[in-house]
Amino acid sequence: MHAHSYGKYAPYGKWLHPKLLIHRPWDVMKDVYDNVGMLPHNCGFCRSVKVERLEQLKPDQWYVIRRGHVTSFMSEWLGYIQKAIENDKNVELIIDRLANSKIQILKDLLPKDWR
Ligand SMILES: [Zn+2]
Repeated sequence: MHAHSYGKYAPYGKWLHPKLLIHRPWDVMKDVYDNVGMLPHNCGFCRSVKVERLEQLKPDQWYVIRRGHVTSFMSEWLGYIQKAIENDKNVELIIDRLANSKIQILKDLLPKDWR
């Protein structure tokens, strides 16, 4: 095991990637943050992070940010789904994007008889 491993209990949980729709581990997000200088999402929670390095956040701060981020992120997708239903457009595209993603439960909101 690496000297910096957190052992059985990892205090820094994963971040749900808004484009890949999968969780990214803390170690990956630390590198992303160091390279890009921000979390790659424009929700209020992600934009509120202004530390020089992500590891300056305490585990409970990171917990709130990533939980808040998920609610913002889900809300964005609910908006896409609402538009797709209203306009009867892009439904198939959204179903494809949600398939095998961490938010695939939202697929159930879309019309099942789409063709
Ligand atoms: Zn966010």
